[in-house]
Amino acid sequence: MPKKLIALLLLVVLVTMPFVTYAGTFDPNHAIAYLESKFQCGCTRGGTGAMIGRRGLITAGHNLYCHNHGAGLKYCNFYFGARGANSCWYQYSGKFTYRVYDTFSNGYNAQNDIGYVVFDGPVGDQTGWFGWMTGYDDDVNMEFMNLLNYDARRHLQNVYDVGYIRSDKLLHWRGYISGTEGGPVYISSEDRQSYVVAVYITTDSSGNGIGRRLTSDVINDMKAAGAFN
Ligand SMILES: [Zn+2]
Repeated sequence: MPKKLIALLLLVVLVTMPFVTYAGTFDPNHAIAYLESKFQCGCTRGGTGAMIGRRGLITAGHNLYCHNHGAGLKYCNFYFGARGANSCWYQYSGKFTYRVYDTFSNGYNAQNDIGYVVFDGPVGDQTGWFGWMTGYDDDVNMEFMNLLNYDARRHLQNVYDVGYIRSDKLLHWRGYISGTEGGPVYISSEDRQSYVVAVYITTDSSGNGIGRRLTSDVINDMKAAGAFN
């Protein structure tokens, strides 16, 4: 990596990211959950979500709300660091609150397909959590972004060097992605800290990935809901 880019990346991180406080040895795999969602309409869905605070998990909105039937969650189990259907680092099936930013009553809209979970318990003490970045995103060299998401058999996939075209709240990249949605698109700094900049939400008509960027309104709402306590 050219020195200029390293310097730029670090500058962006230092300016925009005061918020990494997890003291343990951070393993990104442990901070990413396979979501087993059951909705009040009866539908089920497998998804991916990432811890970005001690009690806060970020994911795609449609993992928390059935956009086909306009129905919220009946329950959701979270399998952090899953390795297949029968093994994981940490399982949470306790109480939580959640919020989505669109119920898609007028059809699916990728712009608003983001949501979060705030756990009653301090899940992050077991899993660690990512940093996050909302401001000055334009300055980040997106070629260093990675994506982590679970496939349908709950094995974690890492897509490296997600190339991008940015438009408003969305990231578009070239390359087909399979598996569940809601996983973190993140960058890693030279000190091996990892910062979530978006969540993977869907693919376009050619099968290329689309991510919904973390925005400050979402972070502020999560703060107010106790996600970082
Ligand atoms: Zn449904």
